[in-house]
Amino acid sequence: MAYTILRGGRVLDIARGTADPADILIEGDTIREVGAPGCAAPAGAAEIAAARRLIHPGLVNAHTHSHGNLAKGMGDCWTLELLLTAAPWLGGNRGLDDLRLSAQIGAIEMMLKGCTACYDLFFEWPVPTREGLAAVASAYAELGMRAVIAPMVADRSFYEAIPGLAEALPPALQERVAGLRLAPGATTLAAIRGAFDAWSADRDLVRRAVAPTIPHHCSDEFILGCAALARDFGIGLHSHVAESKVQAVASLKVYGKTQTAHLDALGVLGPHFTVAHGVWLDEEDMARLGDHGASVAHNPGSNMRLGSGLADTRAMLDRRVNLGIGTDGASCADNQNMYEAMRLGSFVSKVQGPEWRRWLSTREAALAATEGSARALGLGGKIGRIAPGWKADLVLLDLDHPNWLPLNDPVNQLVHCEDGTAVDSVMIGGRMVVANRRPVGVDLARLSERAAAARERLAAANADSRRLYRALEPVVGSYCPGLARQPYHVHRFGARAE
Ligand SMILES: [Zn+2]
Repeated sequence: MAYTILRGGRVLDIARGTADPADILIEGDTIREVGAPGCAAPAGAAEIAAARRLIHPGLVNAHTHSHGNLAKGMGDCWTLELLLTAAPWLGGNRGLDDLRLSAQIGAIEMMLKGCTACYDLFFEWPVPTREGLAAVASAYAELGMRAVIAPMVADRSFYEAIPGLAEALPPALQERVAGLRLAPGATTLAAIRGAFDAWSADRDLVRRAVAPTIPHHCSDEFILGCAALARDFGIGLHSHVAESKVQAVASLKVYGKTQTAHLDALGVLGPHFTVAHGVWLDEEDMARLGDHGASVAHNPGSNMRLGSGLADTRAMLDRRVNLGIGTDGASCADNQNMYEAMRLGSFVSKVQGPEWRRWLSTREAALAATEGSARALGLGGKIGRIAPGWKADLVLLDLDHPNWLPLNDPVNQLVHCEDGTAVDSVMIGGRMVVANRRPVGVDLARLSERAAAARERLAAANADSRRLYRALEPVVGSYCPGLARQPYHVHRFGARAE
């Protein structure tokens, strides 16, 4: 096994808040030793000079959507429900090359911005296929990025899932959205099982999971089918839960209880379960998640951009929920910058009230974006920390960059000052994937040409879906906020909020 040693850097220990000078010895893809500067290395070990570099564990994006990367910047004032209405326009007519290209663009952006692993809830219409999964998996594997890829699936369309919405549409539009019906649940589950059975990607680097998209967009039978898949393959389950107030209100109408209470009653919660967003979780929901050892992927950028609200991460931590941080997809967040997500995670907590002792600290935000997210990915204890036995997923920041002049406090500055511009190089599993601020082995000019060609083709192919969106926007954009005006109480920082 090949050895590498990083010499002369300062190694960040987030929990301790220190960045002491140390050398890091790596064997293959794993950290073997974090030793005193100048410590011995096996003969022939490759040496990487890391003077004036702060080395931090790679950031882990707990929630994104690779198909969103070709749709970045396509919308502005959209609620979650308008985004879902726009989905056929934003993501329609994607071929295998588009799935792959979209994942490549996102992976490159994430790596350039210090992120070394992600939980990718990708979408393939009309059902996930072996080829689609392979296209996305190969994008990550070839770039050397760690990923958990979860086909995002449902058996009810958005219009079937929101009570009263279909009926609120004029007849002509009712007919149009009927064409957006999803495949029967059994068909989708069989397709995933077939694709997972045929899985051929590097299983250490790229792993599988299942994402029933939003609980009430799925029949109970379908959710249980997803849970059975997760059990059979020993993989994670990930769902958008309590993201918007519309969802929270709709859940009461559909289930007579919260989404989380319903998932708990179905028996599908557990340490393998990740709730995305959780803005509208109540205290009992959080206790349920905490008691089951489940995770929340906190996406503060998306929650603000879509007007979903501000999640109460302190209340989650109080109830032992594992907290991870994500960017969400590029069609709603829009960049894939985990430094920004961490910073917003800190700020969103601080903006909620003057009870400063309950604010999320930079230490907590940084731990969430590393070890917390890692646990959500099912990689707890393997990635997210620089210590012997952990994977060599490392980011080298340039300490001569203005973000770090001067170096006062490494964790405060990582979360509140760094924005990705000081990233010099990135290593994943002992392999350099970003060097001298450039992605290794990537032809960016060619990527740019492919993106432009895909954009042109997809804009033409989805013109009709865009027109459909324009027709639906006034109806969905009035009906859903109307639903959200109904009272729904949660407690924030000990005070009642609506
Ligand atoms: Zn999402």
